[in-house]
Amino acid sequence: MAAEILDGKVMSERLRAEIAERVTALKEKGITPGLAVILVGNDPASEIYVRNKGKGCKEVGMYSRTIRLPEETTQEELNSEIEKLNADSAIHGVLVQLPLPKHLDEQEALAKILPEKDVDGFHLINAGHMLTGTEGVIACTPRGALYMIKSTGIDLDGKEAVVIGRSNIVGKPMAMLLLRENCTVTLCHSRTKNLAEHTRRADILVAAVGKAGFVTADMVKDGAVVIDVGINRVDGKVCGDVDFENVKKKAGWITPVPGGVGRMTITMLLDNTVDAAERTVKP
Ligand code: NAD
Repeated sequence: MAAEILDGKVMSERLRAEIAERVTALKEKGITPGLAVILVGNDPASEIYVRNKGKGCKEVGMYSRTIRLPEETTQEELNSEIEKLNADSAIHGVLVQLPLPKHLDEQEALAKILPEKDVDGFHLINAGHMLTGTEGVIACTPRGALYMIKSTGIDLDGKEAVVIGRSNIVGKPMAMLLLRENCTVTLCHSRTKNLAEHTRRADILVAAVGKAGFVTADMVKDGAVVIDVGINRVDGKVCGDVDFENVKKKAGWITPVPGGVGRMTITMLLDNTVDAAERTVKP
C-alpha cells in the first residue's frame, strides 16, 4: 500500500490559523509580534528562504523586517546589528540567515542574539535546554519534523529512530527530540559504515543530508515514517533527499518536498516568534 503523505501545507494552514488568532490577541494588548531577519551577502537560496519567512509573517499578521548587509560586512558590523535588534522592543525574534559568508563566525553571531529572542533556537543556551529537556526555544526544522511524526498518531515509546545527518541545526537536535520522546535513536553521518543496515531498522527515518535521491527504497523498512528534510535543486527543480516515488510505495508515511518539512519550518518560526512576544506580556 502506498504511504500516507504528511502534507506540510495542510498542517501549516491549520497551525497558522491558530498563530494568527494569538497574534490578534497580542495586538489587542498593544503588542505586534515582530521578526527581524539579517541577511548577509547574495546567496540565492537564502534570498528565497528570507522572502518566504517575510510572507509567512504577513500571512499571520506579524511585523517583519529584513536587514540586508553587503557580502563584505565585518564581524563587528554584524554583531552591532544584532545588538541593535536585541534592544529594539518592536522585535521579538532575531534570526541570522545561515550560511554566512566564509569570513564571518556563525557561532559568534548566534551567541550575540539574546536567548529569549533566538527564535531559531541556535543559541548555546537554547541548545543546552534542548539537550537537558528543560524549557527553551526549540530549533524550527526538527520541531516541525517532530510535529509531523507525531501527527501519524504512532506511539513513539521505544521505537527505532534513525537520523541521517549530524548538523547542529537539523541532525543533532532532531536526534535529541526523538530521544526525549523515548525513541531508541541512531545518529548516522558521512563516516557511518553500512548505512542501510541502520536505516532498514528504522521505524522513523529522518534524512537531513543534502543529496537528492540519497535514501532509496531498499534502505527503508516497510511501514516506516520517512521524514525528508533535504532541500536540493536538480535541473531547477526542488527535491528532497528521499527517492520519493519509490520510497512512498514502501513507507507507511512520507513527507513530500516541496510542501513538507520546509513549510513546517517556517510555521514553527512564526510560532516561536509569537511565543517570544507572549513572554513579554506583563501579568
Ligand atoms: P549539513 O551539510 O550541515 O549536514 C549534512 C549531514 O549529512 C552531515 O552531518 C553529514 O555527515 C551527512 N552526510 C553527508 N554525506 C553522507 C553520507 N554519504 N552518508 C551519511 N550521512 C552523510 O546540512 P544541514 O544544514 O543539516 O541540511 C541538510 C539538508 O537539509 C540540506 O539539503 C538542507 O538544505 C536541508 N535543510 C532543510 C531545512 C528545511 O526547512 N526543510 C532546514 C535546514 C536544512
